[in-house]
Amino acid sequence: MARKSPERILAEHRDEVQHRIESLQRHLASIVEQATWTTNDDEHDPEGVTIAYERAQTQGLLADAKAELDALDQAAHRIETGTYGQCLRCGKRISKERLEALPAATLCIRCTSARH
Ligand SMILES: [Zn+2]
Repeated sequence: MARKSPERILAEHRDEVQHRIESLQRHLASIVEQATWTTNDDEHDPEGVTIAYERAQTQGLLADAKAELDALDQAAHRIETGTYGQCLRCGKRISKERLEALPAATLCIRCTSARH
């Protein structure tokens, strides 16, 4: 079985993240809409609190997804410049298995665990 090219893997992940961003944005829009229909602006209104919480959580997920998209774009740029798959810290090659699971990875497993 031929391995997928890094470009292909990146493109697939990018599609997936893009879809996730779109659905999160739709979800966020519906939360905002729901919030405007909730006329009660009492902070102690349990429903208002739930909406605020869900909104914050969705915004967090959206920020994560956007950061992931950025990372994937940077990885695509590294393919062009020929530095893709190289650990930014120690310069060694990142394993193919790791890149398939995490195509935007910039550190090898050893450096990632050393960082924590
Ligand atoms: Zn490393």
